[in-house]
Amino acid sequence: MTDITPFINELTALLGERGLIREPDAMARYVSDWAGDTLGMPLAVARPGNTAEVAEVVKCCYAQGVAMTPQGGHSGLVAGALPAANGQELVISLERLNNVRAIDPVNFTITVDAGCILENVKLAAFDHDCDFPLSLGAQGSCQIGGNIATNAGGLNVLRYGMMRELVLGLEVVLPDGRVWESLNALHKDNRGYDLQQLFLGSEGTLGIVTGAVLKLSPRPNQNRTALLGMPSVQAVTDLYGLARRDCCDLLTAFELIPRRCIELAIEATPELRDPLDSVYPWYVLMEVAATGPVDLGSMLEQLLETGMERELVLDGALASSDTQAAQLWQFRESMLEGQRRRGEHLRTDISVPISAIPDFVRQASEVVMAASPECEIIAYGHVGDGNLHFNILPPMAMANSDKKAHLHDLEEQLFDVLDAFHGSISAEHGIGRTKQAPYLSRLSPIERELVSGVKALFDPKGLMNPGRILPAEK
Ligand code: FAD
Repeated sequence: MTDITPFINELTALLGERGLIREPDAMARYVSDWAGDTLGMPLAVARPGNTAEVAEVVKCCYAQGVAMTPQGGHSGLVAGALPAANGQELVISLERLNNVRAIDPVNFTITVDAGCILENVKLAAFDHDCDFPLSLGAQGSCQIGGNIATNAGGLNVLRYGMMRELVLGLEVVLPDGRVWESLNALHKDNRGYDLQQLFLGSEGTLGIVTGAVLKLSPRPNQNRTALLGMPSVQAVTDLYGLARRDCCDLLTAFELIPRRCIELAIEATPELRDPLDSVYPWYVLMEVAATGPVDLGSMLEQLLETGMERELVLDGALASSDTQAAQLWQFRESMLEGQRRRGEHLRTDISVPISAIPDFVRQASEVVMAASPECEIIAYGHVGDGNLHFNILPPMAMANSDKKAHLHDLEEQLFDVLDAFHGSISAEHGIGRTKQAPYLSRLSPIERELVSGVKALFDPKGLMNPGRILPAEK
């Protein structure tokens, strides 16, 4: 479009001054994300206030051939919600669609606008003695629409599943501006193809989610947290199998943490103290939760005892209050901040079968260390999902200009190891723009044809979040 004035005038008439942002200073918070290592530059930022306004904005873009970037809480980690730097994409922020529409504690469902912040949905569920069990570090800023578009996982997947298992109904504005209303609250529904599931993990490339019906669980009335010192990754996966069985399948989290992450957490939050008396190469942060009269404390103590007898567990701390539990979880949150402060580094979110985690960590570490002995590896993650963040920090002394290429080489070598385990290069963050090359190179011709066909069916003009997952059409 050569003259954008008529387009901007139309949007301003639709949304009013409050609903359209064009000044660079005001747009600043929509052009970077949590990682902060990429910047975009949008044509403008539209902030519609309801589904009808989203539909009108999208119709306008469709008619004028303007590319759109749906944006939630911009906490995604693969640059999917960041506008391209060419100033050609309209950011459509969902932040003003933030109402809880209805809650049905008997059906265990909540109906929400897609711009609701995850934390607020959890609090609304608590008010009705229910729980929306998706839990992740970004829950204070990420939105339900973003969680759906990225099929988010988080800490409790092993018990409750990913977002895919927590969505019953959707309302979506399609790329031509039509509204597809499918806000079902049905726990069983087997009518033909499941169109809804296509939007889970679609990263804003098939349409804009404006509303959702989410599945709730009873709110646990007790939980117990433990941090354990472990001798090896093999001991961690062995203990996981034991814990699933011996804790009546009441595990809600089982996190692998290497020693280096404990140090990074303490660097980022100096008031944190080393959690155990001695230092161990690996740690497990685990939680059990129940809604009924179960003695979780004795259950965990028994697990610890058995783990020690079998020489899987070397030491452990059981939180005896909510405050102590929160302190233990603080390590998990602060270690992310500690990594972020190290600047440019390789972030991955791979998965392998749970039983393959020890071999994968060993082989991948050997390959990376042989290629770049000065790097630091920090491999942590959600053991119960086989999901690891096998991250690599480049040497502090390395020039910033060299880091990108160096980390890219290491990523390729790491993914080669992963291929031998038939693993996934993206277990939770998605493809976006940053993981597109390794994703495409691993698609079979049949998969490529089907994936491109789905995109063409929903978005024939290629205007909805172009260049994410698949390359933009020329
Ligand atoms: P955004 O970043 O705004 O967008 C992400 C993608 O979704 C983009 O492609 C965007 O275009 C699209 N999108 C956003 N809203 C909509 C919508 N309404 N309709 C259509 N498309 C839309 N992820 C996990 O799975 N597990 C974790 O444990 C986890 N931990 C994290 C911890 C931290 C500290 C951070 C920063 C991120 C973490 N993430 C995790 C990444 C995760 O993907 C996001 O936090 C979250 O799901 C994205 O939501 P958002 O609203 O911020 O989406």
